[in-house]
Amino acid sequence: MRKKVVAGNWKLNKTLKEVHDFAENFLSLAKAKELKQSDVMIFAPNIYLDKLKTLFNENAIIIGAQDVSEHEKGAYTGEVSAAMLSSIGITHCIIGHSERRKYHNETHDQLREKLIRLSENKITPVFCCGETLEERNNGNHFNVVRNQIMDSVLSLDKTVYSNIIIAYEPVWAIGTGVNASPEEAQEMHAFIRQLFTDEAGKDFAADLRILYGGSVSPENSAGLFEQNDIDGGLIGGASLKPEALHMILKNSLS
Ligand code: PEP
Repeated sequence: MRKKVVAGNWKLNKTLKEVHDFAENFLSLAKAKELKQSDVMIFAPNIYLDKLKTLFNENAIIIGAQDVSEHEKGAYTGEVSAAMLSSIGITHCIIGHSERRKYHNETHDQLREKLIRLSENKITPVFCCGETLEERNNGNHFNVVRNQIMDSVLSLDKTVYSNIIIAYEPVWAIGTGVNASPEEAQEMHAFIRQLFTDEAGKDFAADLRILYGGSVSPENSAGLFEQNDIDGGLIGGASLKPEALHMILKNSLS
């Protein structure tokens, strides 16, 4: 059985004091048993990763980065490499978030390179994919998601993506308060799992964790998480509030 994932993406939010407050409040709410049953992950700004590891790691909460450089090292001001993340003990990293695709024009080629850098440093990628509203309205959503996965992930050797987690995040649902319905999300998750079955084999696909992201909340998470192919959530806004993230964690427990 696939272990559920409850992953918070903090984006460009929180001061150091707010980080401390979150840790204190969340740890007072979440029971050790709950933290064992699902994998809880916090993807925070790089500046807080080391601090968060100290605050959270002994409680089995995984701390991850929101992006990584496609380069190994060198003259790339402002970048953070996979080797640097690994050197401070980071084991997970989001790549291909729609905000990076949109505001930083990330390409399939760059995402491929990032996957290789992460693999070289034994960091688990959380690979985001998802269509815009226009693409869905045009009936093109399956093609868009297939291309995102085929061109970046499945064009690589299986050893590079062997521990990948996929996050299906329809762009129209991110930060809008309008989530995909459980049925819409399940339909796409089943499609993604089938794609991996065809390209990477039945066993690989059966173990693959596919998260849903896009306005996940305490109110809608139970309905999403009970779908066969939804293995948890990548959560933006609601992950900033300890009570909301804890409610979502509780909804992930079977
Ligand atoms: C996200 O940032 O990945 C996300 C899904 O955001 P939100 O939950 O706020 O829609």
